[in-house]
Amino acid sequence: MNVLVWNEFRHEKENEVVRDIYPEGIHAQIASFLGEEDIDVKTATLDEEEHGLTDEVLAETDVLVWWGHKAHDEVDDAIAEKVKQRVWDGMGLVVLHSAHFSKPFKKLMGTSCDLKWREANDKERMWVVDPSHPITEGIGEFIEIEKEEMYGEHFDIPTPEELIFISWFSGGEVFRSGATFRRGRGKIFYFRPGHETYPTYYNKEVQTVIKNGVNWVNNNDTPQPVYGNAHPLEDILSKA
Ligand code: ZN
Repeated sequence: MNVLVWNEFRHEKENEVVRDIYPEGIHAQIASFLGEEDIDVKTATLDEEEHGLTDEVLAETDVLVWWGHKAHDEVDDAIAEKVKQRVWDGMGLVVLHSAHFSKPFKKLMGTSCDLKWREANDKERMWVVDPSHPITEGIGEFIEIEKEEMYGEHFDIPTPEELIFISWFSGGEVFRSGATFRRGRGKIFYFRPGHETYPTYYNKEVQTVIKNGVNWVNNNDTPQPVYGNAHPLEDILSKA
């Protein structure tokens, strides 16, 4: 499986707090724990040529993991469109935290993807609500994160095909933190945790969920449908 971890990689360059947590960038930390599995992991960032998302790179990517926040608007529309097309064509997509507002995710959802938020060291308790789902393998009844940014409902997404986690926050809000979607042949997993000023991607349970999510969205070897005008497979004309 070829996995590409994409990060806008701006907070880490501009903010000392974030740089202390992720000195090589959020993408490097995510790539490092994914690389412990039998996975070929590469990374790409916004400031690379074509954001590191050339046609060749996208064609060979089975699963794309996306983290972005402050520079969604700098992602070229044509490249966001290509990412969407690759998902339709079978590439898996794992959308993390503030990438709820990324261009590819918004294109794929067709809604505003807006939500409520607060940076106030809330405690997050993320409950498993679908214990039959492979994305929850290795997780207990819930995951507790001592300090995180709060995301609250309403989250303006289409009704998820599967709802996997619901978060409770110490300020009282709740949020659909793990949700799956299918678009074309592609599978999508949205996973909430991962605000840049907290060490969330060092949390082993969060890592397990991301690994499980990457495995679950990997769908690239499924049959390629044939569209358009079709010749009959049986001799229907002589029976007319
Ligand atoms: Zn955030």
